[in-house]
Amino acid sequence: MKYDYLIVGAGFFGSIFAYEASKRGKKCLVIDKRNHIGGNCYTELKDGINVHKYGAHIFHTSNKNIWNYINQFTEFNNYINSPIAIYKDEIYNLPFNMNTFSKMWGIKTPEEALAIIENQKKEFDIIQPKNLEEQALRMVGKDIYEKLIKGYTQKQWGRPCSELPSFIIKRLPIRFTYDNNYFNDRYQGIPIGGYTKIFDKLLAKCDILLNTDYFEFIKDKKDVALKTIYTGEIDKFFNFQFGALEWRAVKFETETLDIDNFQGNAVVNYTSLDVPYTRIIEHKHFEKADSKNTIISKEYSSEWKLGDEPYYPINNEKNNELYLKYQSVAKKQDKIIFGGRLGSYKYYDMDKVIEEALIAVQIEFGE
Ligand code: UDP
Repeated sequence: MKYDYLIVGAGFFGSIFAYEASKRGKKCLVIDKRNHIGGNCYTELKDGINVHKYGAHIFHTSNKNIWNYINQFTEFNNYINSPIAIYKDEIYNLPFNMNTFSKMWGIKTPEEALAIIENQKKEFDIIQPKNLEEQALRMVGKDIYEKLIKGYTQKQWGRPCSELPSFIIKRLPIRFTYDNNYFNDRYQGIPIGGYTKIFDKLLAKCDILLNTDYFEFIKDKKDVALKTIYTGEIDKFFNFQFGALEWRAVKFETETLDIDNFQGNAVVNYTSLDVPYTRIIEHKHFEKADSKNTIISKEYSSEWKLGDEPYYPINNEKNNELYLKYQSVAKKQDKIIFGGRLGSYKYYDMDKVIEEALIAVQIEFGE
């Protein structure tokens, strides 16, 4: 045994675990099938712009410990996410707030907005929302549901809102103030200089093998480490023995444009079904990058099939039940720890993954 830990996947879960284990004098080998570290948080510097290669990553948390923890490795700027939504030729502020309501209905006061939503809700008589559609109608009424939620959600998840769990839409704040901050969290920002530098620091004391697929690697190296931290898809680890979990895949079409400013905002959502992509990210606006060009990424969502990169778990009842089966066999593996979005089949934000990794560290080292 050359290593104490084999860490599969160099995203946040694996890298935090690796850092903490190394700090405690343990030897770690980190492998990743991609040609870089950082998982989906990876950023690449191009033309003076840090490109979020796997989609917009905006760090936000209300957990002061996590905020302090991650600030050891980077300094954050004061970026506040305030996406714009485009529906046909109309433009709205997100999340759903007085700016959105005022534009939608030509009103000024919270009282007027509430009255309209109340009135639109009546039509549907929803007491206990059973799915995303009912949840959305109850929260914001019919107009906003139809213009800003229905098409976007169907594109992102490939299913009608009536077949999706309501928790997905509860991620978005709704407020009756003129406040376009997409998150309610106490702390928010983008790491100055990109995310990849955080991972360089986290993994500084580890051995790293890139372009290395775990299942190939492990065939003739079963004894490489005493324990494994596995952050890939949990169903794949068990050879899909109970069936395959469903995921959404995302594809990015990235281009450099010979102009200074394409859309005037980092994130613009396209909420109608006739636009094939869900959103366009203009990377330079995350860090106010000073570049004469700009780089944009159109984000397309599609059903995951074998061989695709999985992005979002589809946490409906069927998949969650399947996951529980995998989780019960995973728990019996005393030499393997499963974690991260793929290993836990959860729609985690970055702060939550870091928190989970630190919990795993505490358990592992009996602290
Ligand atoms: N959503 C929507 N319209 C929007 C933005 C988001 O209906 O313009 C819904 C959609 O169902 C989406 C969910 O809110 O899946 C969560 O959005 P979020 O921006 O948190 O998704 P992420 O950034 O994780 O892709």
